[in-house]
Amino acid sequence: MSTRSFLVPEQLADYVDQNWIDEAAVLSELRDETASTMEAANMQISPDLGQFLTVLIKGINARRTVEVGVFTGYSSTVTALALPPDGRIIACDVSEEFTSMARRYWAKAGVANKIELRLGPALDTLDQMIALGGAGHYDFAFIDADKANYWGYFERCLQLLRPGGLIAVDNVLWSGRVADNSDQEENTVAIRDFNRRVHADKRVIASLVPIGDGLTLAAKL
Ligand code: CA
Repeated sequence: MSTRSFLVPEQLADYVDQNWIDEAAVLSELRDETASTMEAANMQISPDLGQFLTVLIKGINARRTVEVGVFTGYSSTVTALALPPDGRIIACDVSEEFTSMARRYWAKAGVANKIELRLGPALDTLDQMIALGGAGHYDFAFIDADKANYWGYFERCLQLLRPGGLIAVDNVLWSGRVADNSDQEENTVAIRDFNRRVHADKRVIASLVPIGDGLTLAAKL
């Protein structure tokens, strides 16, 4: 399996893969094609994280969701498959190249009608959604894009969410680099700052889930 967590020893990861992963064939195919054709294949979420998102989406009966950072479409396909037939995703990305693969798999998975792709800077898209009255109307958001804008994405997604809605944010442990204070690289600093702000934010209750590269799960109060 690709994109394994640095947090889980190999033998344990094998156990989880063999006993806990129920991955739809279309997702497995998408993961394989991404791994074999995309240099940035490690940007793809792992199957165990995909399954965790499925549990969250079904657990809160999500119907309207936001995704920031589509890449080749693994998480949006997972989300769409978990949503009810009238469920909808607003999917934000800047890459025509990556999302053209995503579109192909949305069609293959039979979920293209549930996903509205917004190509362009996600901050603008989210601002526009808020300006058009979208605040409070969404159940779930998944953020997995450029780390420098994490806080901006989080702020906007929080406005779009209803109370009790969930925001999941990927890569918050950044391969462990957040804990190494000698690491002052721009993305590391941005994620460290993001983590500090979410933890102090009284509008949410949040938990750091050690899955994949670390996932922040925040519930809007
Ligand atoms: Ca990620």
